[in-house]
Amino acid sequence: MSCPGCGLDFDRHGWVAAVWINTWVTILTVMGWAVAGFVVTFPDVPWTVGMVAVVLAVGVPVLGLPAAKLLQTGILLRWDPPRDGWQR
Ligand SMILES: [Zn+2]
Repeated sequence: MSCPGCGLDFDRHGWVAAVWINTWVTILTVMGWAVAGFVVTFPDVPWTVGMVAVVLAVGVPVLGLPAAKLLQTGILLRWDPPRDGWQR
């Protein structure tokens, strides 16, 4: 897939960095929620803390992948700019 405006090839590096970013954002979000929920509500930790953690574990990577791809594209555009044929 390429940008309809300038022809930049979005797939030239694959999406390994986006998946890596998405994975770590998900891990930190879920663990942050679970640990904070556990610490704040201890010793009567409600089931909703765990259920929300499961929803986050599924929802964050699904909803976050487009943002992670955008972030990867921006980082790689700065780090390894295309040398030829992408600007019109
Ligand atoms: Zn473009």
